[in-house]
Amino acid sequence: MVPILATCCLFLGIAVSFLAWKIAVLRRTRLDETEAAHRQLEEARRSLESERDAMLNTLNDSFLLIDDEGVIRFANVQAHELFQDRPMIDRGFEEIFLDDRLASPVREAIDQGKRVSSKVLLPQQASPLGPDDQRGETSWIVDAGPMKTERSRPLTRVIIRDTTTEHQTEQVRKDFVANASHELRTPLAIINGYLENLIEDNLVEDREATCRFLKIMRKHSERIARIVEDMLVISRLESGEAGNLKMKPFHVASCVQDVLERLESVISSQGARVDLQIKEEDLTIVGDRFYWTQVLFNLVENALKQNPNIPLKVSVGCECTPDGGCRIWVADNGVGIPSGDLPFIFRRFYRVEKHHSQGEIKGTGLGLSIVKRAVEAHGGTIEVSSTPGQETRFDISLPADRVTSASKA
Ligand code: ADP
Repeated sequence: MVPILATCCLFLGIAVSFLAWKIAVLRRTRLDETEAAHRQLEEARRSLESERDAMLNTLNDSFLLIDDEGVIRFANVQAHELFQDRPMIDRGFEEIFLDDRLASPVREAIDQGKRVSSKVLLPQQASPLGPDDQRGETSWIVDAGPMKTERSRPLTRVIIRDTTTEHQTEQVRKDFVANASHELRTPLAIINGYLENLIEDNLVEDREATCRFLKIMRKHSERIARIVEDMLVISRLESGEAGNLKMKPFHVASCVQDVLERLESVISSQGARVDLQIKEEDLTIVGDRFYWTQVLFNLVENALKQNPNIPLKVSVGCECTPDGGCRIWVADNGVGIPSGDLPFIFRRFYRVEKHHSQGEIKGTGLGLSIVKRAVEAHGGTIEVSSTPGQETRFDISLPADRVTSASKA
């Protein structure tokens, strides 16, 4: 009896141990499976996150996710760059944005749980890009709005877009329209004034006065025509017609000759001396000769126009540069341009002497704008330097691909 009982107990013990072992194995397996599933889930989450980050990093705009307490939870690389790599994750957005003009649309979106989009203009000192960026006033669109998420805490997504270039273009367009209207209004008012005199004061019978008035009116109508013509040239150069420039090789020297012939009467009546410094007679560039004639004409005419009463020497020259490009210059020893005016000299309608009487208006203020746009449309650059009374010099540089190989050889 006892041995049977002992045997039964032994079997039972073995069975219990086997079961316990089996359970332990099963539990281990289950644990391993659960851990593997966790790992897989974690990997999937990480890969989704890195895909999301990669996607958000391809945006041109700064993108941030901010929680309901105003703490930054995510920022793409553009946002990090914008705020100069200051640590921003887990920090309050107001501490990072610094300027309340940037922060307030975000605050409003978080507080009211609705989308807020706002255009923000910041002076240079307030730009988040910091003091080393010399762009002057900057313009931004701050767009913040609630983001639908399955997380319990609501998130607000913020997009910050740099619109400085668009803002500047718009500003230039507005200034152009305002300046053009102003410039056209003056000669028109003068013509209208004389017409009124002729009609209302019944001066038509007075032949001498009528002739005098008509001559003045013609001068001002010619001025209107010149302004309109110059504006059309600028608009053609800016409106992409630059891509349709009639590019052909031509000799710089012959273009210079054309210009000097056209200005011959002014040169001789002023007693000016022209010094030609054509270093390579056969220097040939590829470009639209019409615009190059205008470029050289405007530069030489300016030198003459600004210095009617001094013994003037104008130098016009061209030479190849070591990089295979070329340099073309016009210089004079006249009154020059004050250093304070130099940065603005290529702006439309900019004149050094702004207060002039009717008789003293010398140009449209568009000549150098045309010069700069035409040079740039040919892939070149123009620089100006001036020491009044000594030398005022305009230097045009053209890259190698605008100079034909014949003249490079
Ligand atoms: P404008 O058609 O009135 O000549 P520009 O754009 O050609 O206008 O020139 C702008 C201003 O730059 C001129 O009003 C003049 O004051 C100045 N300027 C240009 N070239 C010279 C120069 N060679 N010497 C002195 N001043 C110059």
